[in-house]
Amino acid sequence: MIWQSIPVTVTRSPRARKVWLKMRSCVGLEVVLPYRVSSSEVPAILERHREWILTRLADLGARNEAPGQNPLPESIPLAFLDREYSVRYNDGHRAELHADGDALRVIFPSGQIRFGPLLLQRWLISLGKRHLVPFCRELADLHEMRVCSVQVRNQSSRWGSCSAALGISLNAKLLFLPPHLARHIVLHELCHVEHRNHGPAFWSALRALDPLTEVHEDEIRRVWDSLPAWSKWRKES
Ligand SMILES: [Zn+2]
Repeated sequence: MIWQSIPVTVTRSPRARKVWLKMRSCVGLEVVLPYRVSSSEVPAILERHREWILTRLADLGARNEAPGQNPLPESIPLAFLDREYSVRYNDGHRAELHADGDALRVIFPSGQIRFGPLLLQRWLISLGKRHLVPFCRELADLHEMRVCSVQVRNQSSRWGSCSAALGISLNAKLLFLPPHLARHIVLHELCHVEHRNHGPAFWSALRALDPLTEVHEDEIRRVWDSLPAWSKWRKES
């Protein structure tokens, strides 16, 4: 049965008065038990909540997300930097991430898997600030385009945006892309400084800077689904 193939994490909470089920796109199914309930009851609990589980799976499927896809990666290839980072996980009292060159060490309290994706996302944003911001400013200088502020966040549905105040916001997930695609997206946002919409003037400005615009737009449309689940995980998901 399809829902039996999804990862299940069982945790205990002194605050839980009854059994809680949560379906998270990255972690899979989380079962929170009160202390009085034995973990041997978990299979029966899942069977009782079969309908709910199937509905939540369908919700995730509708958003093109599958539960429990590689929630804690062992390696993180970042094509933009042409680097691959290795990740080790340890139990600890506090949630923290240590980066030593290409080696990452992620620490969080036992069983609290959700801290993994959150720490890795925070790390990805800091790496984006270090590499994507200068990349964007250099492209702006090269093409004599105005830009005030450049920010890096981990947006859930767009690669970047440009505000009326000439501020550009870039998605840290651009680091997963090869430089030619990241360049195309940054140029796209820079063109929005002059052209606020996607009208013909916008496209001709972008094509002047990137003659392969159609090819790149097509590649970019297909790449979102292949991004690792941990990078798309949201607290509320
Ligand atoms: Zn646009």
